[in-house]
Amino acid sequence: MAIATESPDERKATSESTAADKKRWTLNDFDIGKPLGRGKFGHVYLAREKRVSTAKSNHIVALKVLFKTQLKQSQVEHQLRREVEIQSHLRHPNILRLYGYFYDQKRVYLILEYAAKGELYKELQRCMYFSERRAATYVASLARALIYCHGKHVIHRDIKPENLLVGAQGELKIADFGWSVHTFNRRKTLCGTLDYLPPEMVESVEHDANVDIWSLGVLCYEFLYGVPPFEAKEHSDTYKRIVQVDLKFPAKPIVSSAAKDLISQMLVKDSSQRLPLHKLLEHPWIVQYADPSGVYRG
Ligand code: AMP
Repeated sequence: MAIATESPDERKATSESTAADKKRWTLNDFDIGKPLGRGKFGHVYLAREKRVSTAKSNHIVALKVLFKTQLKQSQVEHQLRREVEIQSHLRHPNILRLYGYFYDQKRVYLILEYAAKGELYKELQRCMYFSERRAATYVASLARALIYCHGKHVIHRDIKPENLLVGAQGELKIADFGWSVHTFNRRKTLCGTLDYLPPEMVESVEHDANVDIWSLGVLCYEFLYGVPPFEAKEHSDTYKRIVQVDLKFPAKPIVSSAAKDLISQMLVKDSSQRLPLHKLLEHPWIVQYADPSGVYRG
């Protein structure tokens, strides 16, 4: 692994950039604060960059600490490398920044943008389902982030509430690029949680960037109804429902027909017939309900 050299305060990008800025990060460069959460492979802490930058106050980040033994055991080192490589090159207000990383003998540390309002998943659990205004604002901001990713030949492949964080202003941040790929070819790998997977991935046939349109459709449904559309007790039943595109809209909660129309245009079996993301942004439901600022403020 090459060492990432970019500082969280982006000094590298300024005229003050010096050779010293390109030094390797170590744990000593940070004051470690409260734990923010626990993941499968380690812990996440609030942290402050010790180095004082000229203009800005010390940078607050989230430091993700991953244990090498666990990464090895689960054989995800390759996946992590890909995640770091991809996420560190993306710059978009709705994509969590990955400023850099470093490691010692036992651990790998990821220096991440801090998302002050935490997991969207918890918010959705708390509210049961979101208002159309909130759902449309989130869907529009995710569509913009995915248009940006696809423009860079990156497909995410794992869009779901668990992978979304909320920033201090209420802006959504795509946080997990563990399953993403740089794609110039069509892919055949099976990845992600079944509920969000499109037919072509469930059936392991070739897929492209349009997989993210499907997952965004599933997410839009879950925002509005509180459950994903193809949920079933058994995996095999979810599989069948996805392949058949067994899409039903419950009577409650009441959702506008414009929202249902948009979802129906995204959850289309033939991936080439799914509503393109730039067209989604012009859909009457998005135009009527999404906050033009791109941020849901409650
Ligand atoms: P993960 O290992 O990515 O699943 O992270 C574990 C938990 O830490 C998440 O569920 C969040 O609650 C929290 N967390 C992770 N990354 C961040 C971040 N960048 N900002 C704030 N909280 C985070």
